[in-house]
Amino acid sequence: NEEAWLDGEVVEVNGEELTVKCTTGNTGWNSHSASHSPGMALKVRDEEHVVLQSCMAVPGLQQGGCMAVVANASRVHPKDPEAPPSGVDDMTKLAYLHEPGVLNNLKCRYDINEIYTYTGNILIAVNPFQRLPHLYDSAMKEKYRGAALGELSPHPFAIADSAYRMMLQEGISQSILVSGESGAGKTESTKSLMQFLAYMGGRANAEGRTVEQQVLESNPVLEAFGNAKTVRNNNSSRFGKFVEIQFDQRGRISGAAIRTYLLERSRVCQVSDPERNYHCFYMLCAAPKEVVERFKLDSPRTFHYLNQSNCYEVDVIDDAKEYLTTRRAMDVVGISSHEQDAIFKVVAAILHLGNIEFAKESDSDSSKPKDEKSRFHLRTAAELFMCDKKALEDSLCKRVIFTRGESITKNLDPDAATVSRDALAKIVYSRLFDWLVNKINSSIGQDPDSKFLIGVLDIYGFETFKTNSFEQFCINLTNEKLQQHFNQHVFKMEQEEYTREEIDWSYIEFVDNQDVLDLIEKKPGGIIALLDEACMFPRSTHETFAEKLYQTFSNHKRFSKPKLSRTDFVISHYAGEVTYQTEFFLDKNKDYVVPEHQELLSASECAFVASLFPRSPEESAKSSKFSSIGTSFKHQLQLLLETLSATEPHYIRCVKPNNLLKPAIFENSNVLHQLRCGGVMEAIRISCAGFPTRKPFHEFINRCCILAPEIMNSSYDEVTACRKILKKVQLDGYQIGISKVFLRAGQMAELDALRNEVL
Ligand code: ADP
Ligand code: MG
Repeated sequence: NEEAWLDGEVVEVNGEELTVKCTTGNTGWNSHSASHSPGMALKVRDEEHVVLQSCMAVPGLQQGGCMAVVANASRVHPKDPEAPPSGVDDMTKLAYLHEPGVLNNLKCRYDINEIYTYTGNILIAVNPFQRLPHLYDSAMKEKYRGAALGELSPHPFAIADSAYRMMLQEGISQSILVSGESGAGKTESTKSLMQFLAYMGGRANAEGRTVEQQVLESNPVLEAFGNAKTVRNNNSSRFGKFVEIQFDQRGRISGAAIRTYLLERSRVCQVSDPERNYHCFYMLCAAPKEVVERFKLDSPRTFHYLNQSNCYEVDVIDDAKEYLTTRRAMDVVGISSHEQDAIFKVVAAILHLGNIEFAKESDSDSSKPKDEKSRFHLRTAAELFMCDKKALEDSLCKRVIFTRGESITKNLDPDAATVSRDALAKIVYSRLFDWLVNKINSSIGQDPDSKFLIGVLDIYGFETFKTNSFEQFCINLTNEKLQQHFNQHVFKMEQEEYTREEIDWSYIEFVDNQDVLDLIEKKPGGIIALLDEACMFPRSTHETFAEKLYQTFSNHKRFSKPKLSRTDFVISHYAGEVTYQTEFFLDKNKDYVVPEHQELLSASECAFVASLFPRSPEESAKSSKFSSIGTSFKHQLQLLLETLSATEPHYIRCVKPNNLLKPAIFENSNVLHQLRCGGVMEAIRISCAGFPTRKPFHEFINRCCILAPEIMNSSYDEVTACRKILKKVQLDGYQIGISKVFLRAGQMAELDALRNEVL
């Protein structure tokens, strides 16, 4: 765990150069503050005239009581000698709003299981990695009902409650945007938001299939089919989700709609150790004996789609139990038991499909099932899909090509047949998932008369891995868009606070990320548009695509070509640089159903299977028409952003304190990185551009009256007292609001330094 910041004490100042004594064996930078005498306030000359306290945080130094020289005074931050050891529940209450201060505050709170903290109206949630049931029980729901935001400890219920009340009072739709990296706690937070909204908007003593029950039970259904164990999270959602809860005039839940984004398809055929495939496969293998026999299943170890990884069990998941839970949840959301059987039959068919291996036919280059075992799985898959066995085999092993009005049948070699098999498995699975979402939506029902809604967004955070492909590209585009929305909102909130306090806010400026968005989405000429072009041009390769990008964006500030690669590109995102590998961009952008697969399954005798592949007259005619995943995702995002813009947003930023998924471990650098990616630092930067320190009058007077003791013996009102103090110390640029003093960056430090001189 590398340290992001260290605690230290300035012992010497020489221009910009500081000598700092680091505090011994200290991991959090605040823990020694109480024992330090703040007697040594040092004035350092830099552009902002920052005054340094005796204790401060220093980045990137080794710990252990060493002496270190810091060449640049601006890398050193002052520390609040009066900060309470258990932290503050809102970052904006910190006397010094800066990176190490924010980080330390979160850590102090996390240490005492205070996992929630506000930054103004943004809720930061640090994953506890342990159940804290008392936090979410009905007594808590009752407590948060109707309580003003900030009155009680920070909590998702408080966010949901304030959204709910704003909706009713002002008649404006609301949205709650939950973000964070995988495993940070987005889905858990989303669930507690939905629990609270169901509690507020539900009918008392209602049971069975009420709308709110259905909304809640849609979670286990979608999780069974869309979640999997990954390295980062034992129950990782492999899709994005926007749940729109509709309310009637009286604030009762009257309908709901679920939209999902980009399910990860590759997982169906490809898992690597120590991850798992989607939960539903393991559940089905652990289902009651009768089901397992009917679908000719066996242990997960016998299926290729599952045994590429050595991980079959997750200690916190009981697959047999989950099977029953999922079926019960399916009952609640209105999926009939007949449909449920059909769904699981398809899941079983996919497993059998994966076990078909191919070998070369002896006399030609065509392929056939390799052995008796493969023939058994082919037969079983055909039975379960209720389609013709020969037709299934042909659709895997042959392609019909049309040239100049003639059709020619081409044989696929065993490798190509395997690719074809996997494509079939993926398309079936993704159609199945879409079917579930549609079914849940139609059975919960939309309320056409709904007056307003609360939308809850649970979507993957910014991603940057060793290799980043098309998926990361789409995910990061999502985050750029949400970031823009977020910045605009934070900016607006700041302005509103200043307006409320009747102070001048003409100072604030922030850098927008519109240029990155243009780079990616602009039409024509953006990366997605160029990718689509490449996909439509038969002779394109990822090399020609990359070359085109290099030419087009050679002068773009946000785009670059890495020196050591001929096909990678780098985008400078708001959260940092990401290098993308173009290798599979073209393939992954093509939303394409093999016509043979379409034909096979639309002819299935199982009505359910056939309904997953509806025939459309034009489609079969121009079956090779290219449709772009990138572009359709871009449109989906556009729609989402339009929906969001019509709402009053609320933000929850989830943070994963460690990668071990264990409680009580808080990794500083790791958390800091997430705060940057989640825009929390950006929000703070926006605050800092204005008046980062705001103290209610009485607090300000308590802290600073020592600088003008004469006011204590007089009968000035609070405002006059504050003015007298500020005038005496000759600060300028500050503002006095209706209830608070607003200080510019660095001014609190100056005041503290003066206090130390007096003390
Ligand atoms: P994400 O959706 O961000 O990938 P999840 O919400 O699935 O992450 O959380 C990952 C895991 O972390 C959960 O399965 C759970 O074990 C734990 N977790 C997250 N939030 C909480 C919480 N508020 N209380 C207890 N455990 C939590
Ligand atoms: Mg999730």
